[in-house]
Amino acid sequence: MKELLAQRVLTNDTSDLDEIFKNSANPANISFAGGFPDQHLFPAAELQQAYRDAIETTGPSLFQYASTQGLPALRQKLADRMRSHASVDVTADDILLTQGGQQAIDLVAKLLLNHGDAMVVEGPTYMGALAAFDTYEPTYYEVPVDNHGMDIKVLRQTLKAHPEIKLIYTVPDFHNPTGTTLSAKRRQAMVALANQYNVIILEDSPYRDLRYSGQALPAIKHYDTEGRVIFISSFSKILSPALRTGWLVASPTLMTQLIGLKSAIDVQSPNITLAAINTYLDQHDIDQHIATINQAYREKRDAMLSALDRYFPKNVTYTRPNGGFFIWVTLPTGIDAQQLLTDVVLPQAHVAYVPAACQFASRQVKNAFRLNFTSLDPVTITRGIQQLGQLLQTQVTP
Ligand code: PMP
Repeated sequence: MKELLAQRVLTNDTSDLDEIFKNSANPANISFAGGFPDQHLFPAAELQQAYRDAIETTGPSLFQYASTQGLPALRQKLADRMRSHASVDVTADDILLTQGGQQAIDLVAKLLLNHGDAMVVEGPTYMGALAAFDTYEPTYYEVPVDNHGMDIKVLRQTLKAHPEIKLIYTVPDFHNPTGTTLSAKRRQAMVALANQYNVIILEDSPYRDLRYSGQALPAIKHYDTEGRVIFISSFSKILSPALRTGWLVASPTLMTQLIGLKSAIDVQSPNITLAAINTYLDQHDIDQHIATINQAYREKRDAMLSALDRYFPKNVTYTRPNGGFFIWVTLPTGIDAQQLLTDVVLPQAHVAYVPAACQFASRQVKNAFRLNFTSLDPVTITRGIQQLGQLLQTQVTP
């Protein structure tokens, strides 16, 4: 039956990744592979109450079809939050509620990308975004990431050499997978380049509020004067991913098209969930909840960094993120993290990570991997990093 499938799904081979996640689900292994929040931190009782109260207060109309753009009261709260927490001046009309940030990425890709269209992604980047973009078959140009986010010098050269580029996809805050944050100077420079070369920036920022040290920076969209930055974020990391609720901020021309596209896909996000989130935000101070999870995640990050400092060989380097979910580890050149994982790390250290290759559009970089530090407790994190470090001592020390 394979001959009946569209070309675009045939180019999308995720079997390696499926295998990694299957292995990491094995309870015998300590998995740093997933990108899960700590489920003990979900405000489950509060959300349960919010669902109940939302249904009781609104009555039968809550079970009716509603607008594609999503519950106005919730959009208003998010517009206020964009102003207070990201220095972005928008109204509720500029916001579209989506089924997670993932749907927002897909909508933007559908809006902009014809087969073969050119776009920039970070190298490495969020693999779920690559999966969404792959379906529209773009031509990727990869720009490397350093400790201050996307390398703007390389971005400038890339845009100059390829004026056909339409879109830059970036994760500026606590980047998935490296954990690094784009500096304010680079944010400004990126917008200036987008203006100069007539490009749209997709700013994907689900980790923005999960800061454990340092000062918050304005969103890239803060510097946008021409309506060419689309900002997306999500409740997945600050409340719960099961809510499947994210939001997208875009200028009016793009917004009209995006609403049309969402309507064609799913008509609307589940209105009961949107009303429950809105009620939760009425009843609780979400910033207080975020402060609680940030305290727990800070301890987990610190546990992982201390264990890396203590147990990892000196010729292995890693990032030191100020927030988010991930640390990026770079092995000496020539070592294939994927092969290492399947041949020795899983069978001998019983630890899982996500190897580099599937996180690069080019699939070319092999000597690195992503570690997640949010889902496990600090003691397990330390044990897992010790097991991995001791094994790496035997594998990569010259
Ligand atoms: N963008 C990035 C950078 C992510 O890491 C994720 C989740 N891992 C998403 C978007 C999508 O998350 P969700 O659809 O749950 O909001």
